Amino acid sequence: MRFHIDTAAIYVPDGSPMDEAVARTTHMAIGAHQDDLEIMAYQGIVECFGKDDKHFMGVIVTNGSGSPRDDLYAHYTDDEMQKVRRLEQKKAAFVGEYCAQALLDFPSSAVKDGTRTDVIDDIKALLVAAKPKIVYTHNLADKHDTHVGVALRLIRALRELPKEARPQKLFGCEVWRNLDWLNDDDKVVFDVSAHENLAMSLVGIFDSQIAGGKRYDIATMGRRRANATYFASHATDVATSVIFAVDLAPLMENEALDPRDYVAAFIDRFARDVAGRIAKLS
Ligand SMILES: [Zn+2]
Repeated sequence: MRFHIDTAAIYVPDGSPMDEAVARTTHMAIGAHQDDLEIMAYQGIVECFGKDDKHFMGVIVTNGSGSPRDDLYAHYTDDEMQKVRRLEQKKAAFVGEYCAQALLDFPSSAVKDGTRTDVIDDIKALLVAAKPKIVYTHNLADKHDTHVGVALRLIRALRELPKEARPQKLFGCEVWRNLDWLNDDDKVVFDVSAHENLAMSLVGIFDSQIAGGKRYDIATMGRRRANATYFASHATDVATSVIFAVDLAPLMENEALDPRDYVAAFIDRFARDVAGRIAKLS
């Protein structure tokens, strides 16, 4: 497979031929940075873990340069940092038994530029080769520009595929902003209580992001626990770990639907819920 950036690569943890490994994909997650998939798309990873008929493929769009660094990594150059982050993503792919891990190596400026087509082309090539049934990406209310950029490029790539080649499901997931604010009817609820040890290991691999005090490993597990506990006020906790997502499939199916309008409708329903409760109790 040819990509736009020379250093882009696909890593196959079990060493099988690349085309076969990619073609095995049933679940695919497409994220901006190394560690985003393990934070947002653990549902897909754990659903495929140890299974013969389900296989998770990861796609990271950026090269991870320019990330903050501290501790062991404080004096690393941008090049050295990219190497470390690439290696960490491969370690996660191995531990999580991904069938393949693509590293597209774009600078984040390319992802944030809505006029460029190279990011869309590479994502489209991967979708065509992998034919995933279920796709996870960033949610459109995320507060990180590169995250939202990836989601928008993915939506464009999906719209360019023939209808029969599109996945069945498309979910926007939590990283930089959770989805607890969504009305419960609007939430997609993933019970990810299984293999908590695996969940912790996967986020913990990204030492370069955690060193220096940003404990993404603890924070991610804490968010999932909080989601599980605070989701339903009257039920006892059946799930101990929950990831929320938003259904983005309508944006893939209806090419006339503007992503801004789509996400604004969720925010409007939330605003009505808050205002309605206050009106009722006043
Ligand atoms: Zn990220």
